[in-house]
Amino acid sequence: MKKGTKLYSIVKLKCPRCHVGDLFTNPGLLVFSRILEMPDQCPHCHQDFKLEPGFYTAALWISYPMVLLVFVPSIILGFSLDDLHGFFKFLYPVIILFCFVLQIPVMRLARAILLNMTINYHQK
Ligand SMILES: [Zn+2]
Repeated sequence: MKKGTKLYSIVKLKCPRCHVGDLFTNPGLLVFSRILEMPDQCPHCHQDFKLEPGFYTAALWISYPMVLLVFVPSIILGFSLDDLHGFFKFLYPVIILFCFVLQIPVMRLARAILLNMTINYHQK
């Protein structure tokens, strides 16, 4: 993945301005503590991450279609597997657990997408 593209910043969860500093204090897509904790500004280029009060509320509108893209096929898969054989009812908890765990990267990616929609990359 090429540094300097928006996709790089989103997937790697890096600052949209410098692509060096981490967006979250606990970096990584799948973490289980301090999930949405972000520094006030980029540790590298000092880009402000708290642009205005309630800024990340808009990330809900980005994560919503992403969640639909995961949940709807999972629900359809669950019902169609049940039609095949009753054994697949035991997979329901696994699918539900999978959907809950997937919320973490979806919420983080939505924030990264929102920041990339408002801040452009500046090469120093
Ligand atoms: Zn930065």
